[in-house]
Amino acid sequence: MVGAGPGGSSAAIHLARAGLDVIVLEKADFPREKVCGDGLTPRAVKELAYLGLDKALPTAVRTKGLRIHVGRRDYLLEWPTLDSFPNVGIVCRRSILDQYLAEEAVRSGAQVLTGTSVATPILSSRGRITGVTCKDGRTFSAPVIVEASGNSARLAVAMGLHRMTDRPMGVAVRTYFRSPHHDEEWLDSWLELWDGKPGRSHLLPGYGWSFPMGDGTCNVGLGLPDAYRFRDVDYKDMMRRWLATMPPQWGFTENNQTEVIRSAALPMGFNRKPTVLGSLMLVGDAAGAINSFNGEGVSYAMESGRWAAEAITAAKALGFHTRKADQELMTYSTRMTDEWGSYFWAGNLFSRLISHPAVMKVAAHYGLPIPFVRQLTHRMLAHLWDGDSHDVYDRILNTLTRLAPVA
Ligand SMILES: Cc1cc2nc3c(=O)[nH]c(=O)nc-3n(C[C@H](O)[C@H](O)[C@H](O)COP(=O)(O)OP(=O)(O)OC[C@H]3O[C@@H](n4cnc5c(N)ncnc54)[C@H](O)[C@@H]3O)c2cc1C
Repeated sequence: MVGAGPGGSSAAIHLARAGLDVIVLEKADFPREKVCGDGLTPRAVKELAYLGLDKALPTAVRTKGLRIHVGRRDYLLEWPTLDSFPNVGIVCRRSILDQYLAEEAVRSGAQVLTGTSVATPILSSRGRITGVTCKDGRTFSAPVIVEASGNSARLAVAMGLHRMTDRPMGVAVRTYFRSPHHDEEWLDSWLELWDGKPGRSHLLPGYGWSFPMGDGTCNVGLGLPDAYRFRDVDYKDMMRRWLATMPPQWGFTENNQTEVIRSAALPMGFNRKPTVLGSLMLVGDAAGAINSFNGEGVSYAMESGRWAAEAITAAKALGFHTRKADQELMTYSTRMTDEWGSYFWAGNLFSRLISHPAVMKVAAHYGLPIPFVRQLTHRMLAHLWDGDSHDVYDRILNTLTRLAPVA
């Protein structure tokens, strides 16, 4: 396993609990910072529940849903009550979440070697990956290597799996502010960002957020769905211009800012494929598995980690390096496409559209006031509905994802 983010650690926990020998190589030492919004949706809470950890996380704030701000209007959108997902979200600092998951991997029986940066793949004479070389010269070999190293995906790149530039690549910036809103039960999101007086200045592309950390601060950020279109933009300056327009009660002032603004990429909509190449499997951001509707990636990293672990466990039972075992590993790739392909295809289209601020403005102003459209959009953007249709929203979303092509 390369990388102990949520994808790598989740895969490691599942594999170790199934009795397999697992070594996780992680370049950083914990606790390590990860630039993130720290928001976990019910999808991610469900993955934590699979691991028996949804109630165990230290210092986590529980959320009821989203509070969307459009112009002067606010909309409360509770997490839907469904059979397939809990109706609760969590906000937890990534330095805490990721360390906790890595420690759980160790408790489950995996070896986690921190401060170990993987440099290159070791290939067989037939070009199949058999191990890795680290920057410090150590080598490791394994019948299957899971790359969960996030956006860098160093092994995949070395093996010719470059990201597809026709798929969206987002970018997001975030910092923390002391704020009276630090312990609310809602994830706040702004869909219309102005760089001055609303209606009399420029509309900025993207969306803003403030997530309650429960420790006196909020995680505040700005996400842009299409970084290729905004290559020359100074994202941090854009965030400062937006924050300068925020009402004073939020407390987003320089005096309250507790950290510098940091940015990172959002590889979305399956922008790196195939997800299985011989014995190399890509999980989470390494596979470009961020939801292009909303920039969420933690749940997809954990879920793909679980699926990879299930395929590897089944392949082991068939005997690694046999044709049947290889076919079993390939089921991971098929499962990713079957489960998320159509949804990600639609998300890729959506992210292109809303990267035009005028489109976002019209959709938010004319769509969200209609309760039906609001609820449907909420479920679609959060990827939260039941596969066995229970209501009209499930039926519409199941039909749409059945008809759409796959990403
Ligand atoms: C500003 C911002 C806000 C976001 N907000 C949210 C949010 O609120 N909710 C949400 O669900 N998602 C959010 N995301 C997306 C989310 O952060 C990612 O999708 C998620 O971290 C992916 O998990 P991962 O395990 O695939 O990769 P990562 O979390 O990136 O973990 C990869 C790990 O691999 C290690 N690594 C990298 N290279 C090597 C190497 N060569 N050798 C060894 N180890 C290596 C890294 O140190 C790291 O620990 C946000 C992203 C950004 C940029």
